[in-house]
Amino acid sequence: MDYQAVLEEVAAHARPYVGQGQVADYIPALERVSADRFGIAVADIHGAVYGVGDWEVPFSVQSISKAFSLALVMAQSHGSQGGDGNHGAPGGNRAPGGPGTDDIWKRVGREPSGTPFNSLVQLEAENGIPRNPFINAGALVVTDRLQTLTGDASTSMLHFLREESGNPDLAFDQAVADSEAEHGDRNAALAHFMASFGNLENPVPSVIQHYFWQCSIEMSCRDLAVAGGFLARHGLRADGSRLLDAREAKRINAVMLTCGTYDAAGEFAYRVGLPAKSGVGGGIIAVIPGRCTLCVWSPGLDARGNSVAGAAALDHFTTLTGWSVF
Ligand code: GLN
Repeated sequence: MDYQAVLEEVAAHARPYVGQGQVADYIPALERVSADRFGIAVADIHGAVYGVGDWEVPFSVQSISKAFSLALVMAQSHGSQGGDGNHGAPGGNRAPGGPGTDDIWKRVGREPSGTPFNSLVQLEAENGIPRNPFINAGALVVTDRLQTLTGDASTSMLHFLREESGNPDLAFDQAVADSEAEHGDRNAALAHFMASFGNLENPVPSVIQHYFWQCSIEMSCRDLAVAGGFLARHGLRADGSRLLDAREAKRINAVMLTCGTYDAAGEFAYRVGLPAKSGVGGGIIAVIPGRCTLCVWSPGLDARGNSVAGAAALDHFTTLTGWSVF
């Protein structure tokens, strides 16, 4: 496969969509990003990386971080990602893929929500258990768990992303994190509401602060495609060590397919046919298990918070190559 030629054709196809939609404006720090950016990168499972357009320009990862926090919690739960992985988790050492890795699933579901990513409506009827780990409520629970497991959820994620992307310069964007906190009433409400049901282990201010920091990490399409490689390698990290067992990697990909693009997950699966995770910074990562991980970025969002040109590009990529999970 001539990835470079495919990416160039995909970028040409996506060009008319660039600038369509609305750049996220819920915080001033994101609003300033230019709508006419577009980049796409592919990292194959052997480590080769290809890209076109703005593929090396850092942007705010936002909710793409939710895929990595879930992976780190699953990894920590069986101790293959540093630490003994058993702080606060009753039951002692467990085999990889054993019941211990499922602890998080007592506190968050695995069903598409059909509601916006920051919705509160289902939480009361469902006793403070969010529908899935990729809506904000579910991601807050995952960050809370990562905080318990590591003692510093956002920094452990940043370190992992630096290592996995091979880019030691990755950092939080303090202005974005501060802006999220300043305009964070909805996320604080979600966290307090879940805490009232006993579904948070750590104090609300600390959970939402770590969540805002993880969302503020700046990465390029290149960085994200490379860092997400373990999802295409059935759980193997870039250095060949194991982060997740194959069953866990399969499960994260499955939840990405069904829930990774919020209340547009059905439409996205219909068009693209790949596990994917989007963020309101305009990035989307997508996984072709056994082959490669893609990341596309263009800041104009549709009404559901997914990049318009990004979705068009991924749609064209899977159509051109014939590669999807279907
Ligand atoms: N920081 C954003 C929020 O919490 C992330 C949402 C997203 O990317 N969909 O609202």
